[in-house]
Amino acid sequence: MVLQLVMPHVGSCLPADLAGGGGAGDVMPISITKPVGQGPLARNLPEDVRTIQDALNQVTQKGIAGGPVPLLVVDGLIGPKTNAAILKFQREQVKTINPDGLVEPGKQTILKLNELVAPISRADLNAKLAKALPIAKAALAAAIANLRAVISQGPAPGPSAIAADRLNRHFALNKLNAAAQSDARVTLFETYSEMALVINEPTLFDIFGTNDAFDVDKANAKIALTTSQGVFEPAQDENGDPNKARRIRLGLGFFAPNVTANFAAHIIVHELTHFTGRRDGQRIVDNGRGWFDDVFIKPLSPAARLTNADSYASFAEECRSNSSAKPPFVKTAPGGLGGAR
Ligand SMILES: [Zn+2]
Repeated sequence: MVLQLVMPHVGSCLPADLAGGGGAGDVMPISITKPVGQGPLARNLPEDVRTIQDALNQVTQKGIAGGPVPLLVVDGLIGPKTNAAILKFQREQVKTINPDGLVEPGKQTILKLNELVAPISRADLNAKLAKALPIAKAALAAAIANLRAVISQGPAPGPSAIAADRLNRHFALNKLNAAAQSDARVTLFETYSEMALVINEPTLFDIFGTNDAFDVDKANAKIALTTSQGVFEPAQDENGDPNKARRIRLGLGFFAPNVTANFAAHIIVHELTHFTGRRDGQRIVDNGRGWFDDVFIKPLSPAARLTNADSYASFAEECRSNSSAKPPFVKTAPGGLGGAR
């Protein structure tokens, strides 16, 4: 059984059944943080309401059925006209649900709005990757250089001491005895090296064939998903779908405006850890999410951090940026694999 991992808007990757997932095609970035419309679930944050009002107007402006006539005033205030426009759109365009007048993040109404008015093209994906991949590669190279320094120079001042301090904060290696520390450094060195090889030389693994290592997932509102140890999976999944097993797939969330190039690179490194696994065969999962000093990371043992995707992504990020300050895009959240971790 192939273990698929999905990264939601915020939080850890979750195992997911991908049956019915989207195929090739466009993905789209109209996104809200809380439900908009009517009913007890609605939060109607002004920025979210404005987003939906504008998106509904675009339906009308593009000449597509289901948009408001006349156009809504885009003022961020929920009211009878906006509520009626949501219901009208659901009745005419979202045939798979009972119209409830509520637009929820990641659900069918907003996916339909994206599909109709804000499609993201393959070119958009490539443009985003063109900015993020060099940063991800630089982060992996920096992590490898740090590990090489500490392995080759031992407890010496300079680069080796800086690297050792980073390893202690991100992986708690100082809680291990000397022999276990030495083993962990070599495992990390080999694991980052393999991740770098996968991202730099994808054709060696017959992963991509083309440069389609990364796919957009039309029906997925999440940020990203991949297959645990997918690099070792057949190119096609059990249903013969070539786009699932050996891919890192990027969903709607990856294209949201808040996903900067650095954030996108962090996501890619995080997903790569799942995709390759640890060099000694261990899966890398989500035991906790966040920076080394975050509440869900601090209690993790060295063993838990050495199999934790965000610990790998955060160490590489610090090695690349030469800053131990938590980047704004790193959020903390509990681990996501439940009993499977
Ligand atoms: Zn994950």
